[in-house]
Amino acid sequence: WKNALPSLAHLARHARTHGDLEFLQYEGERISFESWFRAVAALAGELTLLGVTKGDRVAIAMRNLPEWPVAFFAATVLGAIAVPLNAWWTGDELAYGLSDSGAKLLICDPERLDLIGPHLTEAPALAHILVARHPGEPGFGARPLEAIIGTTADWASLPDTDLPPADIAPDDPATILYTSGTTGRPKGALGTHRNLLTNILSSAYAAARAVLRKGEALPAPQRKTMLTVIPLFHATACSATLMGVLFAGHRIILMHKWDVVKAMQLIERERVNATGGVPTIAWQLLEHPDREKYDLSSLETIGYGGAPSAPELVRQIRDTFGAQPGNGWGMTETSATVTTHSGEDYLNRPTSAGPAVAVADLEIRAEDGVTVLPRGSIGELWARGPMIVAGYWNKPEATAETFVDGWVRTGDLAKIDEEGFLFILDRAKDIIIRGGENIYSTEVENVLYDHPAVMDAALVGIPHRTLGEEPAAVVHLAPGTTATEEELRDWVRARLAAFKVPVRIIFCDETLPRNAQGKILKRELKALFA
Ligand code: ATP
Ligand code: MG
Repeated sequence: WKNALPSLAHLARHARTHGDLEFLQYEGERISFESWFRAVAALAGELTLLGVTKGDRVAIAMRNLPEWPVAFFAATVLGAIAVPLNAWWTGDELAYGLSDSGAKLLICDPERLDLIGPHLTEAPALAHILVARHPGEPGFGARPLEAIIGTTADWASLPDTDLPPADIAPDDPATILYTSGTTGRPKGALGTHRNLLTNILSSAYAAARAVLRKGEALPAPQRKTMLTVIPLFHATACSATLMGVLFAGHRIILMHKWDVVKAMQLIERERVNATGGVPTIAWQLLEHPDREKYDLSSLETIGYGGAPSAPELVRQIRDTFGAQPGNGWGMTETSATVTTHSGEDYLNRPTSAGPAVAVADLEIRAEDGVTVLPRGSIGELWARGPMIVAGYWNKPEATAETFVDGWVRTGDLAKIDEEGFLFILDRAKDIIIRGGENIYSTEVENVLYDHPAVMDAALVGIPHRTLGEEPAAVVHLAPGTTATEEELRDWVRARLAAFKVPVRIIFCDETLPRNAQGKILKRELKALFA
């Protein structure tokens, strides 16, 4: 794979060959591949006039909007580095992203402009702001994006031009994607053109493996409709979904933000074939009281990753929707997908995240970071392959600690079985050590999930004077069900060693606190016990 992949400019030109097919639909606005390409070319031309050149950072701070993939490609086809900022961030956090990346130009939505405006002095490198869909006169020296590319309805009639010329090598940086900030301050992962494009290869390999294992004929390529509800600024949607759709000519129904009723309406109306992103989305579809009022029969796959999921989810998705459940492990530092899991394999091993994609190597190593442990042992997961990013932006020490000889140290505790299936047990930072005994969160959480009344559960360590830490759980019960603390403790006691039984269980009326990527914020849960 060393020299196999070209750049995002090649992908953009390839995607143009899908022509008048619908690429993206948003709130009734329909955009073809050709219109998208024209908007990319027009904006890239304007960025060039504004002085953006190779290696410059172009920040994008928007909720999911059609302008997002235009901004992303307008920057990257020039060899500039797109810096998608988390649209859930506060003004302070957005300012951190702008100053950390040293962005020269910002493309944002009106809400983000209002948040960032008061912080502009913290981002001295920022020379230009373009704002999409601003209803009035944008302040803070911003220019309306519409003045350059018009509204989505105008994109089809923008000039028929090629992209501005750019000299891009596969290992040139293309993105700075920030990690989810689950364990600390988000870190900018510097992804290359090769990293992003590897997702296309990985899914092709996974599809080939499925066909070969079943001895079936290669299915004719089919155009699929995906409901994209997870934020585009995160690795899963940006590196995996977007690249795959542009390559294969699929269709995206874009949601501004997740809303389960609206999602069901869209699935029915647009005959959506695939959705998901994070496990919570699948749960909300399954549990919604009005689910049966909608025709969701077009759904073929519901895939997720990024966070531990209840093994129960696998069977429920198959039984309720007749759809294929899919799981995958990856991190921002791996430009999304490293393992994929679906079909019979997943139904048979519902606690696994699947085998590695063909171009990735996985190892389980001891704490020294050097000794490779045998199959079946628990240790830290290390990963290598063309998807591993070049390092952290602006963080030489963290880069040296995490990226070693082409491998990334993941910070996840895991095991790999004899057949190569990966099982994520915990984050190294979240493992609970009770008087010397290791307790892995997912093991206890999975047992709790199996209880009929439990809808959501998380295990955290709480301090203990002599034992160091003890396990405690926060549980959210399914509507209309009851369970007592003692009953749940008995349930775990009947299934796991006594030292793993949570010493306290707190019931939470709402679903557990999660960040934009659907990850439970264990730091906040620990505070509940304090
Ligand atoms: P930060 O690094 O800033 O603390 P983060 O690690 O949550 O945040 P991401 O890169 O979005 O940021 O997430 C990667 C992590 O998500 C992995 O290290 C792993 O802990 C978790 N994860 C990803 N996929 C899965 C999966 N299929 N099952 C369980 N956990 C997963
Ligand atoms: Mg991380």
